Amino acid sequence: MFKSVLVANRGEIACRVFRTARRMGIRTIAVYSEADADALFVREADEAVLLGPAPARESYLDQDKVLAAAKATGAEAIHPGYGFLSENADFAEAVQAAGLVWIGAPAASIRAMGLKDAAKKLMVEAGVPVTPGYMDDDQSEARLKAEADAIGYPVLIKAVAGGGGKGMRRVDAADAFLDALSSCRREAASSFGDDRVLIEKYILSPRHIEVQVFGDRHGTVVHLNERDCSLQRRHQKVIEEAPAPGMDAPTRAAITDAAVRAAKAVNYVGAGTIEFIADASEGLRADRIWFMEMNTRLQVEHPVTEMITGVDLVEWQFRAAAGEPVPLAQADIPLNGWAMEARLYAEDPANGFLPSIGRLDHFILPRRAGEGDREAVEGAAAHSIRIDTGVEQGGEVSQFYDPMIAKLIVHAATREEAAAELADACGQVEVWPVRTNAGFLKRCLEHPRFVAGDVDTGFIGAEEEELISSQALSEDGLRSAVDIIRLADEMGADWRSPWTSFFGPMGFRMNDVPSLHQRVYVDGQPRSVRLSEEASSQGRPRYLELDPRAAVHFERGYPFVVSTRMDLKAASSTSDGALRAPMPGKIVAAPVKTGEAVARGQPVIVLEAMKMEHALTAPFDGVAAEINAAVGDQVPADAVLALVKAE
Ligand code: ADP
Ligand code: ADP
Ligand code: MG
Repeated sequence: MFKSVLVANRGEIACRVFRTARRMGIRTIAVYSEADADALFVREADEAVLLGPAPARESYLDQDKVLAAAKATGAEAIHPGYGFLSENADFAEAVQAAGLVWIGAPAASIRAMGLKDAAKKLMVEAGVPVTPGYMDDDQSEARLKAEADAIGYPVLIKAVAGGGGKGMRRVDAADAFLDALSSCRREAASSFGDDRVLIEKYILSPRHIEVQVFGDRHGTVVHLNERDCSLQRRHQKVIEEAPAPGMDAPTRAAITDAAVRAAKAVNYVGAGTIEFIADASEGLRADRIWFMEMNTRLQVEHPVTEMITGVDLVEWQFRAAAGEPVPLAQADIPLNGWAMEARLYAEDPANGFLPSIGRLDHFILPRRAGEGDREAVEGAAAHSIRIDTGVEQGGEVSQFYDPMIAKLIVHAATREEAAAELADACGQVEVWPVRTNAGFLKRCLEHPRFVAGDVDTGFIGAEEEELISSQALSEDGLRSAVDIIRLADEMGADWRSPWTSFFGPMGFRMNDVPSLHQRVYVDGQPRSVRLSEEASSQGRPRYLELDPRAAVHFERGYPFVVSTRMDLKAASSTSDGALRAPMPGKIVAAPVKTGEAVARGQPVIVLEAMKMEHALTAPFDGVAAEINAAVGDQVPADAVLALVKAE
């Protein structure tokens, strides 16, 4: 076994790999960009090397710099994590050519599975059922259109080089096909440098089922059961679980069998995932599950598999890379209980899921599992929670990388318990001023359809309005927030002049005022609260004082700003008509011209930032008085991109 490992990645996955390395007595080496100089994963590593500026191209994606860092630190092995260079076959070869151990898939397997069309053809040969569709070389409009017509609508156009949910278009009718094709090709060319597409039958009632596979250099391939990742938003996973609800033994046998066959067809070594799409209109049936693609790396959602099998997949990766055989025989790989994972994103669901960047002044996650994955994985008796995170209080969420800041994972005896415990955990998340999807996750997990296991990939889209509707702070919550302000007010006598006191010049004394209703503002909206006898703060404070007159109260995963005065937040709800860039980014569409009439909610400018497109919409009906940005412009945060005036 090698004695040192460099992780060519950042954030939670770097921390995750280091944990196992530490437990195995392997020296840990981080590489980082200027934006990550103070990050948790950098401090946790035994050694760290600065790669370069924040943009990934100049740091995490710069192969020469990563290899130079390995050389300088004497690293014996490189783990690529996920994303970045993890599925780059050239990098895999370069690592090995430099005499280092590559803790990833063989370059040939990565290449074989890299393009969706070639991978599907290979799978057909291997006898694996693939999603019906067209995957040939003739890329003429006429041919693609004819094939789509023949497949029958709805169809899905997919970039052959696509990934991360990008480069896909669903087409519902023949007359919409050509427009969708050209926009898909544009996105594919700009995101992946390859505008070739394939066409698939769009599966209705689609569920995303995937199988964790693992191979060694001696020709053995095993599976570690399936995961269900159907809870997605815009084709990106949000909540994952293992096993899949409604999976019976014969169906599991069929799908895991197909997965092992798929991995063997590319001589797979290490951890990999075979993704399938299932038509679940009549439950999961073996003859309605088709191969979609293979991810030749460790997956974001690998912890749910670790929880139900007791296997540390990163340890297995190390062992396979060092030439050891798969540690367990297929028959000895268990499936215990139910595990569920929620991805905590720094984003604001109430505001179009816009990424939220900045300093994590307040960052509290539910109780953590102990250090080390032995404990988190094997000690995972029922009812345990595991937190994989790459940030901490005081840390920074930067605009340069993926906005996922933590994963909350639970393991319980049954699905019902797992869902309830994960909902509970999400409800305990306290983050400020960066916004997160914690409250949204909790609502997804508590939704009757989710609880019943009746979820397909369209769930969030269909239920979105209900899932993001605004939430009211409870009476109890309001009273405790006001109590906190009162305590601060009383204790703050020496640092604040008495006549600006919240409760008036006499200060607040219950004895003097038998009953008192106080007007306060919650997120800028007026509310009246009947004050309790005595200001009391019970248990762990669930608030953060913004200043002596305002506090943030956390409830059900949501932050509520409780203040004794009208807050700035109230002002922002009445827009001045200026559309400002919420973060630095690139303009990818400007569909409205100066002087054109716009309706409330109509997209005026589309900004691409943090790997996502964000539409800035007209705040009210009016005209576009100014359009200050053109397609291709790189704009800084807060730039006024357009101005809408009411008529
Ligand atoms: P998965 O099925 O494992 O979620 P994805 O294709 O969505 O696979 O991508 C894996 C993960 O890799 C993403 O969720 C993201 O966290 C990370 N990732 C991908 N590309 C990048 C990137 N350019 N920068 C940072 N993280 C990335
Ligand atoms: P990516 O490389 O971006 O992960 P995938 O091919 O894995 O692309 O597809 C991503 C998601 O898109 C799937 O998880 C599923 O929700 C949806 N999807 C893909 N193919 C189909 C299909 N043929 N029918 C319905 N949904 C699909
Ligand atoms: Mg995929």
